Amino acid sequence: MSEDSQFSEDDPRVLSVIGNLRGYKLCDHCLGRLVGKIGHGYTNDLRGRILRDAKVLPELPEGETCWLCEGLFERTDEMAAAVLSRLEQLEWNKFSIGSRYDPSIIEREEIVWAECGAQHAEPIKSEVNREVGKRVEALSGKEVDLVNPDVRAIIDVDFLAIDVEISPLFIYGRYRKLDRSIPQTKWPCRKCRGKGCERCGFTGKMYPESVEELVAREFISAAEAEGSSFHGMGREDIDAQMLGSGRPFVLELKSPRKRTLDLVLLGEATNRANSGRVEISDLRMSSKEEVRSIKGSRAQKSYMVSVELDEEKARAKLIEVIRLLTQSPIEQRTPNRVNHRRADKVRLQRVYGAELEGLEGRRATIRVRAAAGTYIKELMHGDDGRTHPSLSELLETGVRVLQLDVMEIHDGSDSDGEGI
Ligand SMILES: [Zn+2]
Ligand SMILES: [Zn+2]
Repeated sequence: MSEDSQFSEDDPRVLSVIGNLRGYKLCDHCLGRLVGKIGHGYTNDLRGRILRDAKVLPELPEGETCWLCEGLFERTDEMAAAVLSRLEQLEWNKFSIGSRYDPSIIEREEIVWAECGAQHAEPIKSEVNREVGKRVEALSGKEVDLVNPDVRAIIDVDFLAIDVEISPLFIYGRYRKLDRSIPQTKWPCRKCRGKGCERCGFTGKMYPESVEELVAREFISAAEAEGSSFHGMGREDIDAQMLGSGRPFVLELKSPRKRTLDLVLLGEATNRANSGRVEISDLRMSSKEEVRSIKGSRAQKSYMVSVELDEEKARAKLIEVIRLLTQSPIEQRTPNRVNHRRADKVRLQRVYGAELEGLEGRRATIRVRAAAGTYIKELMHGDDGRTHPSLSELLETGVRVLQLDVMEIHDGSDSDGEGI
């Protein structure tokens, strides 16, 4: 043990703290905690014991309780038992302990600190959390994890009541959407904002179902979760299909009572239940960090768009005009249709590839690959000049979008990787 990690009763720092401790009657824990940051590998009650054995301070008289904690540390076994009994119905491995106090105990600790100095002291909360944590570890064989616990038990030390916070589970996957009538996520009713009214048939929703709900159902039930959030790598329009290898998402399950899930079985059950509407694949466990990277992704997207031209003679220029779309940046002002939810501004977008895939009468099918955030319908019809250039502007004729599907999200897991 190095000099620095020792705790000794004649350390001048220890003596200066204890010298200022007037007549407060403290237990070994509360005494040791005043110098709890001095020395490594000691418990606070061991620090307190060393000071008493060296006669730096007298023993706490028989039958007297500690003025500061009122005997709190004699109840740590009881607290650990209460925590374990509260967690019994849950599946967990890593845990952490928190605690709540009557303000008077914190005030008493601050009074002592005001006299002795708080420089080397540890707060009562950290000692209780650590001591109870050690006992729960010993009784359960599971481990404290302060950063990523499965469950966090918060002890009300006066009433021994335990609150539990269960960390969410995150599941990564990709979804394909074949149904042209469902939004990606639950969409609260515009009239009642989710409360339920006549317009929404008292569901609180604009659409009875969503990709989120169809995907989450089996998982919520298997994990006995309280609900879910759905984090997609962008979203498609309600009437668009999501094809190819699907769109990456992370499903967040809130307060799951079970944490071990058979993702293969759940994936199969989900696909069976949603046949012809939504399919999921590539399932694996994920994390909060991945939610952030999925939300921040700037992956390019490929689309198949069917349009109808107002004038058939515009066909002649079609191939040349489609090529032109890839030649210069597209100035795209926030479309009229989404102006109510996004700031009205001009964004510069880029079309990386555009090809004519089919042509019949006034109807054309075009494959487009564009930067994340490009509005493809507006790229076609021009949105009254808010998107410039557009297919309509270059063809000098009106263009109506009949159908738009997302063919691929180029997030690096597809075969042709970055850019064209
Ligand atoms: Zn005490
Ligand atoms: Zn409503």
